[in-house]
Amino acid sequence: MSAEKLDFQAEVSKLLHIVTHSLYSDREVFLRELISNASDACDKLRYAALTRPELTEGNGEFAITVTIDKDRRTLTVSDNGIGMNRDDLIENLGTIAHSGTGAFLEQMEKAEDGGVSLIGQFGVGFYASFMVAEKVEVLSRKAGEGNAWHWESEGTGSYEIAEGERPGPGTDVILHIRKDADEFLEAERIRQIIKTYSDHIAIPIRLKATPEEEGETVNQASALWTRAKQDISEEQYKEFYHHIAHAFDEPWGWLHTHVEGKVDYTLLLYIPGQKPFDLFRPERKHGVKLYVKRVFITEDCEDLVPPYLRFLRGVVDTEDLPLNVSRELLQNNPLIGHIRNAITKRVIKELERRAAKDKEAYETFWNNFGAVLKEGLYEDPGNREKLLKLARFRSAKSDGLISLEDYRNAMVEGQKAIYYITGEDSEALRQSPQLEGYLARGIDVLLLTDPIDDFWPQMSDEYEGLPLRSVTRGQADLDDIAAKDDKGDEKKENAAKGDIAVLTAIFKQALGDEVSDVRSSARLTSSAVCLVAGDTGLDMHLERLLKQQNQLEALNKRILEINPDHPLIRNLAAKAKDKAARKLIEDAAHLLLDQARVIEGEPLPDPAAFARRQSEFLLRALPEDADGQTPAAADDTAEKSAESADKTAKAEEDR
Ligand code: ADP
Repeated sequence: MSAEKLDFQAEVSKLLHIVTHSLYSDREVFLRELISNASDACDKLRYAALTRPELTEGNGEFAITVTIDKDRRTLTVSDNGIGMNRDDLIENLGTIAHSGTGAFLEQMEKAEDGGVSLIGQFGVGFYASFMVAEKVEVLSRKAGEGNAWHWESEGTGSYEIAEGERPGPGTDVILHIRKDADEFLEAERIRQIIKTYSDHIAIPIRLKATPEEEGETVNQASALWTRAKQDISEEQYKEFYHHIAHAFDEPWGWLHTHVEGKVDYTLLLYIPGQKPFDLFRPERKHGVKLYVKRVFITEDCEDLVPPYLRFLRGVVDTEDLPLNVSRELLQNNPLIGHIRNAITKRVIKELERRAAKDKEAYETFWNNFGAVLKEGLYEDPGNREKLLKLARFRSAKSDGLISLEDYRNAMVEGQKAIYYITGEDSEALRQSPQLEGYLARGIDVLLLTDPIDDFWPQMSDEYEGLPLRSVTRGQADLDDIAAKDDKGDEKKENAAKGDIAVLTAIFKQALGDEVSDVRSSARLTSSAVCLVAGDTGLDMHLERLLKQQNQLEALNKRILEINPDHPLIRNLAAKAKDKAARKLIEDAAHLLLDQARVIEGEPLPDPAAFARRQSEFLLRALPEDADGQTPAAADDTAEKSAESADKTAKAEEDR
């Protein structure tokens, strides 16, 4: 049967272009990727054979063989694992399964070094072969199937697939080594690479310096997590992370323990050093893998790790489950639940330890995974206290990150709550008018910008007896706390209380249904107005989010708060009892409401009315012109000035 030519998925072509043209200095990692895949393939077959022993018949011991053939200039990595059929080859080696690849490629194209540094972060897996090979062949036979398949590509836009022949199940990856990569045909070099990157692989890796010889085992061939801690070097831990997580970054930390008791298990868990591109995608894989007595069982046992720790990578190996454990049996399994609780406890403890020991390193962790960890604040009430202590925040008064403990220590006299505001961007939040009154009193406000921040404060609404309060909701309870710049005799001029009451009443009447209330505010110092939500309602930012996602029909009515100290409000208040100024005050009410909406980022329901009122006000502010025309003759004047502007423009053109 003749070969079939197929195109790579566009993303793969792009990736291959970057990989083949990159001057990546650690090209040798291609071998670790291939060995890692081979080891996974053996793990998968070993598991499948638990229920279908015929799959491995005549297959012998699981092993990976690396063969050098200097005459043909090839380096071959063979395994007797699960293998791939035609569909698998197309799916696995013709497309990129990683979600988030689009985002990754975008970043790669933008990167100044052409993406070389990103190869190290993303892990290009199998495609790394093309850093050292001008052509790659894959000969594979899937366990349980009769025929083999031959895949071949030069790493440009396409690949070929044809039927092939292979004695047993498994895969050979044959690299035709590039001229500039001769080193990878030297047995010593290859041995050193295997020792460096793949020593921890649990099955034997045999190296054959020529196709004819028997070869010898190069690695220790015992599962790393079963070895004693003191026998494992830091480098070996890191390399194992690369293998188990299919990651290229340096782990931020790891945790290795063996527990004997009601349940026997070993944990080797890693916290990545970098945020994966697909952290928020539910379908991502390579999380925590479940082994039973050193046999790989599954990499998607959902119950093993709570969702808010889904950044964890690594291995759980237990003695206490049957080897042929089914997926159904794993669900709601009390033993798995027991291990999950232990994992949670230990990871939290490790985070507490690192947070106390190295502030800067902890902040790196927080910036990567804090948004995920915070999900625990409402998912896991039992650990809420501890998670709140681990949380870090931006705040209006600090440049860096602070903890709730830091916040508490910096509270002012009389302050009875922890204040926060939610939104998209901390710099924009810092400018919010709702913050003014708090900052003027020396009170800090947490700036919460993760999507999850709209939800957890409703559930975890206190910390060590202090309530958490949104500054954009309800009354500002600031009356008991003196503003910092209030120095007795220099007390600012306040609008007379009575006048403010009248002004508020007129505003309320003029705005009618557009607001739920108008009231004088303690929350403002330099802005004239702001919007807030009622005591019982949702936070405004959350409402806007829900509306965007069509989960809410309309925003709730807001409360308009006005600042009695603001010159504009003072001025309006002074005119409040003057009947003649009534129209002006009503227009001002509408304009100020629209202004508050703009600051809040909410749409204006009637932009035309806003524009008309604003023009009128601008006109009033202009001095009377020479003709003695009053601003009331606004339209006329505007027309005239437009006419003269036209004339000037024409004159310019004619020149
Ligand atoms: P990753 O291993 O990170 O998923 P790769 O590009 O290295 O990405 O491999 C893609 C997929 O191809 C693997 O997930 C696996 O399903 C399949 N694969 C690769 N090598 C082998 C192999 N030697 N035997 C069986 N399947 C393999």
